[in-house]
Amino acid sequence: MKKLEEIKTYIIKQKCEYCKDGEMEFDCTVKVINHKEYFPHTCNKCGDKELYNLKYPYLSYFTKDGNKINHAFGSPVIWVQELGVKDV
Ligand SMILES: [Zn+2]
Repeated sequence: MKKLEEIKTYIIKQKCEYCKDGEMEFDCTVKVINHKEYFPHTCNKCGDKELYNLKYPYLSYFTKDGNKINHAFGSPVIWVQELGVKDV
């Protein structure tokens, strides 16, 4: 028997850690360092460039009381913490 449960969907964005204002945008390229893939991003305000192990933004799903359903790899993001969810 199937059961439907409503969930919350969040878009996870990465703020620029340099200017603290812009948002990091994926450059649509891949860099391979020591057999691992990294994704170059550029800040849309100051142009700062960073490499991440995932592409921002991405979607993440939570139960109504804030528990994460799928585990996306990556580091916690300030904007998500501001939303009051328990885990990223
Ligand atoms: Zn910036």
